[in-house]
Amino acid sequence: MKNDPYAWLEQSLKSIERAGWQRSTQTIDRPGAVIQIDNRQFLNFASNDYLGLATDDRLINAAIQAIQNYGTGSTGSRLLTGHRALHRELETAIAQLKQAEDAIVFSSGYLANLGAIAALVGKRDLILSDQYNHSSLRNGAIVSGATTLDYAHCDIQDLRTKLEQQRQHFQHCLIITDTVFSMDGDLCPLPEILDLADEFECMVLVDEAHATGVMGATGAGCVEHLGCTGRAIVQMGTLSKALGSLGGYIAGSAQLIDFLRNRAPSWIYTTGLSPADTAAALAAIQIVQQERDRRNILWQNVAYLKSQLPNFALLPSESPILCWQLPNVQTALEAAKSLQAEGIFAPAIRPPTVPTSRIRMTIMATHEKAHLDRLVAALNRVQKDVE
Ligand SMILES: *Cc1c(COP(=O)(O)O)cnc(C)c1O
Repeated sequence: MKNDPYAWLEQSLKSIERAGWQRSTQTIDRPGAVIQIDNRQFLNFASNDYLGLATDDRLINAAIQAIQNYGTGSTGSRLLTGHRALHRELETAIAQLKQAEDAIVFSSGYLANLGAIAALVGKRDLILSDQYNHSSLRNGAIVSGATTLDYAHCDIQDLRTKLEQQRQHFQHCLIITDTVFSMDGDLCPLPEILDLADEFECMVLVDEAHATGVMGATGAGCVEHLGCTGRAIVQMGTLSKALGSLGGYIAGSAQLIDFLRNRAPSWIYTTGLSPADTAAALAAIQIVQQERDRRNILWQNVAYLKSQLPNFALLPSESPILCWQLPNVQTALEAAKSLQAEGIFAPAIRPPTVPTSRIRMTIMATHEKAHLDRLVAALNRVQKDVE
């Protein structure tokens, strides 16, 4: 008898369990500030739906209308059969929101990063990547075949040193970074990165997944928030977080977007975004542009919550992502469980996703003051048990 070639899966799962790294999904009835899990109500501090748009009637109606007009699937690659007028409308709206010349929409943010990075650099090129970058940036770098070096998190001096040592050995160089770091909530030093990019002749790709619709006076993102509008940047983002839909995009110069339409494999060889997702994202962008108040309320909520948690070891954050640092995996899991018992849904984030364990809380515009007060009270009780 030969051995079962899949037997190693069981061993592998066992060691994942032993390390406390096993993951599972939880069924939530419908996204929102208040959610139901197994018929129990929870306050939701785990959502990326920062503006509460995923259940907004205007997005829902736009999606229904698009399905009635165009059907459910887009049936093929955008280059063959999968392109509707709606797709181009969305790309124009994104370009306008991002204050860029043009944009291209992918079927997810993950695919946007894979496609753009693989199109922009190859074997003879160099990528410099923030150590805490999102998985989609890291895997984009691998798929591209370029030599990839991590620089220390947000460390401009380390980035400079690596450029001084390595830049001359490569043809093109691409610096890639989250703008809002998804598991920490801090911001990249974008103006300094762009200055280095000018000095060393590098392209820069920023991931605005958690910034689009959230950061900046008009919701354009961190590029706007950090005063870098108009500089030469490849701006990636997602339609799946503050925009309440599904999909991803790259915004930038008209040339860049034209190039990606010709060279990004994860755009060319996959089915276009569904009509429903496209229409919902389009409606969301209109709301982001017209209803500044949503963003104002979100930021008021963030400021209020921070002011109520002076005794917590929060990671430095300039975004609606707040992380309570905990000493290890066990205390983080225990804290998440105790919070659940208190009716609070805020997950433990742990290795290998991040280097240190934490409770990650995301704030929404649709959280009410009473919700935030309940979170603070629960955190105070749980802190006594675990810290
Ligand atoms: C969520 C996320 C993505 C992926 O976007 P999707 O549209 O969900 O595929 C990429 N980068 C970062 C930083 C993210 O947080």
